[in-house]
Amino acid sequence: MKTLQIEKIRELMMNPNQIRNMSVIAHVDHGKTTLTDSLLARAGIISENNAGKACMMDTDPKEQEMGITIKSTGVSLYYQNAVTKQESIINLIDSPGHIDFSGEVTAALRVTDGALVVVDAVEGVAVQTETVLRQACQERIRPVLVINKLDRLFSELKDDYENIYQRVNKIIAKVNSILEMHENDSIRGYTLDPSLGNVAFSSGKQCWGFTLKTFARIYSQKFSTKEEILMTKLWGDNYFNPQAKSFTSEVAQINNQNKKFERSFIEFVLVPLGKYYSASSNANIEVLSKMVEKLNLSSILTPVELERLKQVDLQERIKRTMRVWLPLADAILEMVQDHLPSPKEAMKYRSLYLYEGPADDEACTAMRECNSEGPLMLYVSKMVPTADLSRFYAFGRVFSGTISQGMKVRVQGTDYKPGSKEGLFIKTIQRTFLMMGKQHEPIESVPAGGTVLILGVDNALTKTDTLTTSEIAHNIRNMKYTISLILR
Ligand code: GDP
Repeated sequence: MKTLQIEKIRELMMNPNQIRNMSVIAHVDHGKTTLTDSLLARAGIISENNAGKACMMDTDPKEQEMGITIKSTGVSLYYQNAVTKQESIINLIDSPGHIDFSGEVTAALRVTDGALVVVDAVEGVAVQTETVLRQACQERIRPVLVINKLDRLFSELKDDYENIYQRVNKIIAKVNSILEMHENDSIRGYTLDPSLGNVAFSSGKQCWGFTLKTFARIYSQKFSTKEEILMTKLWGDNYFNPQAKSFTSEVAQINNQNKKFERSFIEFVLVPLGKYYSASSNANIEVLSKMVEKLNLSSILTPVELERLKQVDLQERIKRTMRVWLPLADAILEMVQDHLPSPKEAMKYRSLYLYEGPADDEACTAMRECNSEGPLMLYVSKMVPTADLSRFYAFGRVFSGTISQGMKVRVQGTDYKPGSKEGLFIKTIQRTFLMMGKQHEPIESVPAGGTVLILGVDNALTKTDTLTTSEIAHNIRNMKYTISLILR
C-alpha cells in the first residue's frame, strides 16, 4: 500500500470527525465481496484490474471453498472527495453474508457505526438482508443502500425503463419498512431516498455505479441549478417537459406533439446509461465516440482506446467504458462520507446502549464524547491468528481513550463484575497495528474512534472482552442475538 496513504490515515485518525467505521452487509451472492474489492482497488490495496474478480477480504481458505465470505476482516482506506477535497478514513469491516455465521456478523456490526447494505436488483431484499439489517438497527447502526447488479436489469429488462424504476423503488420501500419497524436513535427520522443521495446504484462486477448526486453534478451546469435541488428532481414522480425545458410533478400527460412527459429518472439517468451501455456492448465505436464527446470523456477514452475495445470481451469492454464515466468506488465512498455518522456523532446515541454501567460515570461520559483523553474503553470483537499461527491478535474498536504500545490495561471478561477480581486480568499491550486487509501496519497508538489490532492480550481473552484503564468501568455490553430465520 502507498506510504502516502498510510501517513494520511495516521494523521486523520487523530480527528474522529473524519472517521467512518462501516460494515458491508448483504444476502449471500448479492455482490458484497465484488463491491468491497472495488473499494480496495480505489485505495490502491489491490490492482484496478483485479477489481470485480479478486477476493481480497476473504482470508479463510474455507471461504473460497464455500464461495462465501466467512471471516470479518478489517481494512482502513484513505478517501478524499475530488470535488469538496474533504478527507476521511474509512474503516471497512467486512462481515459474512451467510446465516450460519451470524455471530460474526454481529461482532462486525458492533465495531462500526454505519453499514453499506447491498441488495441484488433482481433478487430484491432477501431473508439474510432483513436479519442483518434488524441486528444493525439493534446495534444503533445507520445504513446506506447500494442496489447492485443493475447490469442484470439492463440486460434482462432491456429498455423497459419504467419497470427498472419500479423495481428499484420497491427495493428502497422494502428496506425503509424494515428500518421503520426497528426504529431507534440512530435512524429516527432517517429515510433511504435517492434524492437525498443515500442510495447508490451499481454493477460491482462491471465496476460502475452512481448516486443521484453524481448525475445532479453532471446536469447542474446544463440547468444552472444547484446539485441539491436537481437531486430532488431526478427521482420520484418528477417528469421533464421537453418543450418548457422544465421539471413538473404532474402525472405524465400527453403534450401537443402526442409525446408523454418522461419520468426524469428515465430521461436523465436511465436513457443515457442505456445508450452508452448498449453502444459499448455492441462495440459500436461510432455511437461510443459521440457519447464520449458528449459526456466529456474524450481525454480518458481516446479514439485509440475506443478502437482497442473491439478486441476485448464484452464484460471487459463494458467495464472499461462505464467505469471512466461512473466510477463505482467514488460514488460509494462519497455516499459513505456524506451519510454515515462519524464516531463523534454516533457515540452520542450509541454509548448508552453499549455500556452496562451508569450513564454518568467516567467511562460512559468518555465514550459518549468519543474522548481520546478519557479512560480507555475498547471492545474486542474477534481474534485474528498471527501469520505463524502461534498467537492471536485481538481486533477491536477504541470507544474512548487511546490505546498505546507498552500501556497496562485491565482485561475484563464477560463474567467480570465491577469491584471483583474474577474475570479480570492486568496485561501490557505489546504491539498495536492498523489492519490493512492481509497486511498490518505497526502504529504506536490509536485514539478513540478507530479500530486496532493488538498483540499482548491473547492469553487473557475470552474473545468479546472489554479493555479499559478505568478501575470503576463496567463492561461493554456483550452481544447476544437470537437469529430467527423466517423462510419465505
Ligand atoms: P457475496 O457472496 O455477496 O460476497 O457475492 P460475490 O461478490 O461473491 O458475488 C456473487 C456472484 O455474483 C459472483 O458470481 C459475482 O461475479 C456476481 N456478481 C457480483 N456483482 C455483480 C454485478 O454487479 N452484476 C452481475 N451480473 N453479477 C455480479
